[in-house]
Amino acid sequence: MIRVRNLHKKFGDVNVLRGIDLHVKKNEVVVLIGPSGSGKSTLLRCLNFLEEVQEGEIWLNDGLVNPRKDNLNEVRQHLGMVFQQFHLFPHKTALENIMEAPVYVKKQARQEAEQWARELLDQVGLSDKANAYPSQLSGGQKQRVAIARALAMKPDALLFDEPTSALDPELVNEVLQVMKELADQGMTMIVVTHEMGFAREVADKVVVMDHGRLVEQGTPEQVFNSPRKERTKKFLQQVL
Ligand code: ATP
Ligand code: MG
Repeated sequence: MIRVRNLHKKFGDVNVLRGIDLHVKKNEVVVLIGPSGSGKSTLLRCLNFLEEVQEGEIWLNDGLVNPRKDNLNEVRQHLGMVFQQFHLFPHKTALENIMEAPVYVKKQARQEAEQWARELLDQVGLSDKANAYPSQLSGGQKQRVAIARALAMKPDALLFDEPTSALDPELVNEVLQVMKELADQGMTMIVVTHEMGFAREVADKVVVMDHGRLVEQGTPEQVFNSPRKERTKKFLQQVL
C-alpha cells in the first residue's frame, strides 16, 4: 500500500532522513518509535508530500508518485493525517470541520457530506457533539473529531503523529480506543507514539528510528522482548 525506497531528506546541511526503506501493507498497523529528533515527523510529512525530498521513491497503491508531475492535492487524499495539536478550524463546529474537505475539495453535495459526517461522529462516539465548537470540546473529544475529519475523505491509510501527546492522561485512552477500533476494522495506519501499550496490543510491526535511519523493525514481541540493536535497547530502557 505504501512503499518507501531510499528516502533522503535534508534541511540545509542537516541530514534528517538518511536512506529510509519502509513497506506498509494494506490493513497493517505500523508503529514508529524513536528518540526526539530522529526524524519520525519528517518521515510522515514526506509520505504526504508536505516536504520535498532530495532522493528516493514513494509508492502508493503500487504507483510511483512523481511530485513534479502528479497532482499532489489528489495524492494527499489517499493518506489522512492526524496531528498532536488537532488543527481543527476554531470557527467551525465539529460537524462542519468534518464536512469541510468533502464539500470544498471533493465537491460533495452538502446533504450527503453531512450524513457521512454524522456517521463518522457516531463512529468516534461523539454524535451528541455535532454542533459544538472546538473550544467547547475536551482535548480527547477534539482529537476524535480530528480523526473523523481525516476519515471523511475515505483515505486508504491514516498517518498519526503523536495523537495523544498533547492530552491529559485521563483522556488518552478514549483516543487510543478509537484508533484500536479503526485497526480492528482493517484501516492501514502508521502511528508515531510513545504509548508502548498501544504498540504492543495493536501494532503488526514496530519500527525503530534513530538519527534518520530505521535501525530495527519487527513484531512488537520481537522489538520489545528481544531487541537486536543496542540503540533499540537504550531507547526502550528510557520509555518502558
Ligand atoms: P520528536 O519526537 O521530538 O517529535 P521527531 O523524531 O519527530 O522528533 P523531526 O521533527 O522529524 O523528529 O525532526 C528531525 C530533525 O529535523 C530534527 O533535528 C529537527 O530539528 C529537524 N527539522 C525538522 N523540521 C525542520 C525544518 N522545517 N527545518 C529545519 N530543521 C528541521
Ligand atoms: Mg515528531
